[in-house]
Amino acid sequence: MINIVIFGAPGAGKGTQAQLLAEKFDFLHISTGDLLRQEVRLATPLGLRAQAIMNCGDLVGDDIVVPLLDRALRQRSTLPNPDDAVDPWDRELKGEPHRPEGCIIDGFPRTVSQAQTLEFMFSRLQRKIDCVVAIDVPRDELVRRIHERAAISGRADDTEDVIRHRIDLYDQQTQPVLDYYRVSGMLVTVDGSGEIAETNARICQTLKLVMKNKE
Ligand code: ADP
Repeated sequence: MINIVIFGAPGAGKGTQAQLLAEKFDFLHISTGDLLRQEVRLATPLGLRAQAIMNCGDLVGDDIVVPLLDRALRQRSTLPNPDDAVDPWDRELKGEPHRPEGCIIDGFPRTVSQAQTLEFMFSRLQRKIDCVVAIDVPRDELVRRIHERAAISGRADDTEDVIRHRIDLYDQQTQPVLDYYRVSGMLVTVDGSGEIAETNARICQTLKLVMKNKE
């Protein structure tokens, strides 16, 4: 099982790429933004606390996002048992849970403290992060893309001021996470300024190498 973090500023295309990779490689895709939006839609106590913060483009507190991620990691992926010789498809036919080939996390960590928390959560599940893929896109292109997305997404946080605030927060709080991963040797940066398919091909190339090294 391979564990990947996909990283990038708002508008870099993390969600799109994570979705494509999840389909291609049979990875479990966990997006903290999607988990939070789901809580907001369902008007759960966590969702009600998160809603106003998200609408302003601020980061929600770790006390909200960490339990959500923890729950998703535990519920949606069962640990593969190395001694288990049963074919995964066989298992599914018998109604047992499908075990994905890996896990791709999008939207987390956004601070250095979240990066440390993620390592802790993974170690408790006897797993570790194999690779952090950072999608690099120039700021002007980020703003252009979010504007384009805003016209169709209907997301309350896709307005001019909030978009700029989210990108500023990324520069201040999230960018340092890249240095954290660079030092640990896990970071791979991919040019994401072009078409979706081009970026996807670059990431796939990287991940194939990571998977090969893990064999
Ligand atoms: P984007 O990358 O375009 O900002 P996301 O869907 O990843 O979109 O996140 C939307 C919002 O959800 C963020 O602006 C923030 O308010 C909240 N959020 C998502 N992930 C986290 C996180 N790891 N920590 C704090 N807040 C988060």
